[in-house]
Amino acid sequence: MRIGCDALIVGGGPSGLSTGSFISKRGFKTIILEEHREIGRPEQCAGLVSWRIGKLPQKLVLNRVDTARFCLGNKSFEVYSKKDMLVIDRAGYDKHLAENALAEGAEIRLGERVIGLKEGCVVTSMGNHYSGRILVGADGPNSIVARLTGLKQPGNLLFALQCVAKGVFEQHVVELRFEPEFSNEVFAWIIPLSRSRARVGLLTSDNPWPRFRLLLKRLGMRRVEARVVGDSIRFGLMSKTSASRVILVGDAACQVKPFSLGGLVYSRICSRIAGDSCITALERNLFDGGFLAETYDSVWRRTIGGALEKGLRMRILFNLMRRMPVSFALTRILGLNLLAGRVLDPDFLGKNPIPE
Ligand SMILES: Cc1cc2nc3c(=O)[nH]c(=O)nc-3n(C[C@H](O)[C@H](O)[C@H](O)COP(=O)(O)OP(=O)(O)OC[C@H]3O[C@@H](n4cnc5c(N)ncnc54)[C@H](O)[C@@H]3O)c2cc1C
Repeated sequence: MRIGCDALIVGGGPSGLSTGSFISKRGFKTIILEEHREIGRPEQCAGLVSWRIGKLPQKLVLNRVDTARFCLGNKSFEVYSKKDMLVIDRAGYDKHLAENALAEGAEIRLGERVIGLKEGCVVTSMGNHYSGRILVGADGPNSIVARLTGLKQPGNLLFALQCVAKGVFEQHVVELRFEPEFSNEVFAWIIPLSRSRARVGLLTSDNPWPRFRLLLKRLGMRRVEARVVGDSIRFGLMSKTSASRVILVGDAACQVKPFSLGGLVYSRICSRIAGDSCITALERNLFDGGFLAETYDSVWRRTIGGALEKGLRMRILFNLMRRMPVSFALTRILGLNLLAGRVLDPDFLGKNPIPE
């Protein structure tokens, strides 16, 4: 079957659903293709976000944390945030965004995995052919849209594993563990859901399974949910996130914090910019690469490009610190952690205005 629309969005995650909402609200026919049969599943996220995630239904906020403890062996320091960070129900968040998109008139087609491009149409595993006046790749870190349209994603790929574990936790403290045996690149995390349950996971650039088993064993934790979820995250600055008639948004465009690898807040910001850019292109019937570079690429870089660079610098700093465990103790002794809590922003955005 051949189906046409104004905006064709590949990916029914937060970026695709939010971008789709904005575009369909302006009356343009919008179709969102999602390979899974249910929005939000499998849930592959720790769900830790700042207040910049915007207004959420109360039931989606599972916990609030105000302290991040950075640990390396028996050395540690704590950073206190000025505003609480939220631990959210990620599957519920995606479903909430899907309800908004549907309410604005977008169509969501589940079980439609994009497998190729043929004669200007996107082809799915169901054998359907879709064409849009503009194509949005919101299909995550291994974006097929990026691959098919020649938009090169960086090679920095990390693999994650996470489960819900039982133990004794400080309910308002997130722990980040930098021991090299838990991750060769980033860190392991313990994000409490309550005093007795936490999301425990890690990110690494090699096989995460042996490290993950070791993490649970060392911390003396027991899995309470049978399923371990895993996925990948890509980070770095992409040189181009748009081309003629196509843009990438969210994880597909590496709009991810290079230090903590969180992407939900940047996805929210960039989906707004992507939506605005698509609306302008559809209204003016202008889809060339130069126009989209100006209305999308340049705008999102002006908004979060500086934050991405700060995140990359933070990543380098922590990679140096983890080689010198004493630096963790020194940070605490010199009170640098207290300073960091006052001046650092979890999203590195500072007072940079973000589009509402
Ligand atoms: C283990 C883990 C923990 C994380 N923890 C946090 C956190 O605490 N805080 C935070 O802010 N971020 C976190 N992130 C990152 C966050 O999950 C992403 O930044 C966010 O999901 C990006 O949304 P997105 O819509 O851009 O991409 P995705 O959520 O990846 O959505 C892409 C969608 O596209 C679909 N898709 C892919 N290929 C195709 C195809 N060929 N055809 C059709 N559909 C397709 C996928 O099924 C998916 O639904 C974490 C990530 C992982 C893996």
